[in-house]
Amino acid sequence: MFSGHHATVHCHECNRAMVPRIVICYGQPLKSICPFCGCTFSTFESGFGRLLRRFQTRRLSFSVFFGLATAVIGCGLIGLLSSKGLLSTDTGHMGLHGAIIFGLLALAELAFQTVEQLAKKLDHESNYYWAILVVLAMILIHQIPEWTGYMVLAFAVMLTRALLSGLLQLFKTRSKGLVSN
Ligand SMILES: [Zn+2]
Repeated sequence: MFSGHHATVHCHECNRAMVPRIVICYGQPLKSICPFCGCTFSTFESGFGRLLRRFQTRRLSFSVFFGLATAVIGCGLIGLLSSKGLLSTDTGHMGLHGAIIFGLLALAELAFQTVEQLAKKLDHESNYYWAILVVLAMILIHQIPEWTGYMVLAFAVMLTRALLSGLLQLFKTRSKGLVSN
């Protein structure tokens, strides 16, 4: 790739030709910077980040949330129709259960996207945000033990959401034939 060329690049900030300096943190390359102005040239993902990314959608969008919200409304309508006597009671119960499950998943997706978007906007690694949220949840459980059930439920729902989106992502990349690293 670099044969016959100088292994230098141009800094995005000061435009000088340079060889980026690697910044290493605990033996892992963190980022490369311009030796003249100190601006970040590129950032390297940690091994843990790469592992997480395989199971995460980095293309942030609320499309999944809107899909889930539509499912909630659909299930709610089924419940409504059955309460009016237009559908059988069993179908109505199914609709209500569906609305609850899809509603929880939609909330989890909304929470996930909000945290991810916030982290992206502030240029932070979202893993820290999740770590902080887990610590907050633990403190909350410690302070208000009655909420343990809700917290466990919330984590179960978040886990289900992550698994579903991971599987969806895997399926998408498979069908495109773009399985990278
Ligand atoms: Zn520079």
